[in-house]
Formats: sequence, structure tokens, C-alpha cells
Amino acid sequence: MTIAYVGLGANLGDARDTVERALRAIDALPAVRLSAQSSLFRSAPIDATGDDFVNAVAQLDTSLTASALLAQLQQIELAFGRERPFPNAPRTLDLDVLLFGSEQHQTDTLTVPHPRLTQRAFTLIPLLQLDALIGIPGYGPAHTFVAAVAGQVIQKM
Ligand code: ADP
Ligand code: MG
Repeated sequence: MTIAYVGLGANLGDARDTVERALRAIDALPAVRLSAQSSLFRSAPIDATGDDFVNAVAQLDTSLTASALLAQLQQIELAFGRERPFPNAPRTLDLDVLLFGSEQHQTDTLTVPHPRLTQRAFTLIPLLQLDALIGIPGYGPAHTFVAAVAGQVIQKM
């Protein structure tokens, strides 16, 4: 079993409802159990267009590999009607593997830990809400990156 953290984001349609339903869809995946979920947060788009995002982080227990988990998450994105008309387009649902146990690896399709995890308040703050002492393999304690994202306004919903 591996403890994994997944970042959820949505900014099209009823984004709050999308994130809540996506959390249930993740929990319903075979070989995955949702063990904790952060609060929902609202954030302004960064390098993206459209409305504010609703974000959350999910903590999972899983017997899947990291790449199998990503494939399952991409199926959920598709089921929620995600399209990729252009890079960073508004999205109904974005699911990212933030952390996968102590794994550190990079392929064409999967980089773990997620390379922007420490640079974005909307992933870092919900992660710290779930575990204030969590370490990020290759980076160090997550809390040491908080000051660097302090200029990014996010709001607890
Ligand atoms: P964004 O960077 O905004 O999340 P996408 O969701 O469209 O953009 O992801 C683009 C690609 O990023 C995916 O096709 C996926 O293969 C790759 N990727 C690499 N590492 C990860 C990760 N840790 N989690 C999710 N996707 C990843
Ligand atoms: Mg993504």
C-alpha cells in the first residue's frame, strides 16, 4: 500500500460540485481508498484562463502503481467531460498526482513529486492542512515553501 496525494482543480461549470463528485469517483476506483480530503479552496487562475478555480487535495491509500493511478485519474477527467482545446484552457476537472509515497521519478508522462507542487499555494496549502509535517521527496519539508507562495491568494470555502 502506498499513501498518495492527488490535487483536484476545476474552473468550468459548477466547479465545487465537480470537485465533490470527483472525490467520490476517486474513492470508488478499484484498489484506491480515499483516506482524507482537505477543505475546498478558491484560487485565481495562474497561467490559465477563465473563472476562479476550486481546488482540493485528496489523500489516498492505494495498491496501484503511480502510472496506473494517473491512468485511472485521466479516465475520471474524461468522464467529467474534460477537453484540451489549447494548453492551459479552462478545464472541467484537472487531477494531478502530487506525491506517491517516497517515490521520485520522471518519465514523459509522469513526474513525481509533481514539479509545481511547492510553487502553488492551491496545492501546497491543502496538502499542509492534511499533514503539516509532510516531507516532499527531493525537496524537504513542505512547510518551508509556504513563504514563497504567500503572495498567491487562496480562500477556504
Ligand atoms: P496540467 O499541467 O495543467 O495539469 P494536464 O493536466 O493537461 O496539464 O497534464 C499534462 C500532462 O502532464 C499529462 O498528460 C500527464 O502525462 C503529465 N504529467 C506529468 N506528471 C504528472 C503528474 N504528477 N500528475 C498528472 N499529470 C502529470
Ligand atoms: Mg493535470
